[in-house]
Amino acid sequence: MKIAVGIDIGGTNTKTILARENGEVLFSHKSFTPSVKVKGDERIENLLINNLKDFIHNATAKKVISGTSEISGIGIGIAGLIDRKNGVIIQSPNISAISGVALRGIFEKEFSLPVTLENDANAYAFGEKWIGVGKDLDSFIVLTLGTGLGGGLIYKGKLYEGPMEVGHMTIVPSGRYCTCGSTGCLESYASGRAIVDRAVSSLEKGTESLLSKCCDGNIYKITPEVVYEKALDGDSLSREVFREVGQFLGIGIANLINILGIDAVIIGGGLIGGWDMFIEELSKEVHKRAFKLLTTDVKILKSALTKDGGSVGAAGLLFSHLAGSTEQTTS
Ligand SMILES: [Zn+2]
Repeated sequence: MKIAVGIDIGGTNTKTILARENGEVLFSHKSFTPSVKVKGDERIENLLINNLKDFIHNATAKKVISGTSEISGIGIGIAGLIDRKNGVIIQSPNISAISGVALRGIFEKEFSLPVTLENDANAYAFGEKWIGVGKDLDSFIVLTLGTGLGGGLIYKGKLYEGPMEVGHMTIVPSGRYCTCGSTGCLESYASGRAIVDRAVSSLEKGTESLLSKCCDGNIYKITPEVVYEKALDGDSLSREVFREVGQFLGIGIANLINILGIDAVIIGGGLIGGWDMFIEELSKEVHKRAFKLLTTDVKILKSALTKDGGSVGAAGLLFSHLAGSTEQTTS
């Protein structure tokens, strides 16, 4: 059975895995995305190449594989806009050092292997169709709730190769500032960044909350995970923050259901652990706003690929590419 590398390059972390054709993960490693270490003449692509060489070396030393010769290709998913034809990252707001880099060609040359390049949330969506909860579904959207909010669409069984920047649909006119340069984007109301911003701004205004006593009394050290813990402890502000995440996500999802006519919405990403704190409000909002006929059979599902979603999907896209190449050469 073939083995591929899957890499998910996010704004904060990079996840690298080795996966078989059936989706089984053989080996994985998480590291910081090297964007913050790029200094002077250093190139981010060289840092990424060195990281992958170390990964293959470790997998070989641990006898997971016998070396690069056992790898069929490299699938890369990355946060940002992709030029698929040329394998270039056009723009990546959270990893600015990589904008404009022709990563696919650079990796192909360095490793002498086939390489695929896709947006990270699109790769995640592909992973859900391949081996996740979307396996038997025809059309669904995947939302990845992490530092930001990503989106990927499987439509009539196929990955839609468009930008799908659902996190940047305007939800509140003249609303909160967004990292994309606009204001009032969904991501500014439903993401890890939004959870922290909303909590901190209330604390700055003097709202009483268990949050003010956490993180050594430094409210600027609050993380989404801390807000979730305090919500579990019954803290009203923390619960309200998650209720709002559900409300805004629900508005965004209602828009998507009305536009696309899909079978399901799958929610994944690093913050999916907070599911029980926002899902009720989210469902309420979806059913309040979207056309009844379009929502009756729509399932709202929790991703089962939360740990490796993007990297597994990236490996899956590579296998799919190889299968396509074979068909082309044999037909
Ligand atoms: Zn935006």
